[in-house]
Amino acid sequence: MPYGDPLNLCSPCGKDFSSLEAFDRHRVGKHEYDFSFDRPDGRRCLEADELQALGWEMDQRGRWHDPERSRRARQAFQDRSSDVGLTPQTPSEAVAGLMTHPPLFDEAA
Ligand SMILES: [Zn+2]
Repeated sequence: MPYGDPLNLCSPCGKDFSSLEAFDRHRVGKHEYDFSFDRPDGRRCLEADELQALGWEMDQRGRWHDPERSRRARQAFQDRSSDVGLTPQTPSEAVAGLMTHPPLFDEAA
């Protein structure tokens, strides 16, 4: 293995992710059944080229991450730190990747 220990390794596709959120977001489709020829909207992993199309990058440890999301997360943390109690909480974005179509960023929909 050219990389370090896997952090959030996905056994079906073998990709590793720098955060659990990134891991969750690379899984798309319906939970009820797996992707197959007969069920193209079933649960599956995004391919590397699909992740790249979304702007994701692989870091030097071989872990996929979303640079844009990471930047916003840092910004949100800074906002909260400087404005304690006044920043509205955003709902979990965990469902954003669970649509039948390849996920778009919620802001870009
Ligand atoms: Zn996967």
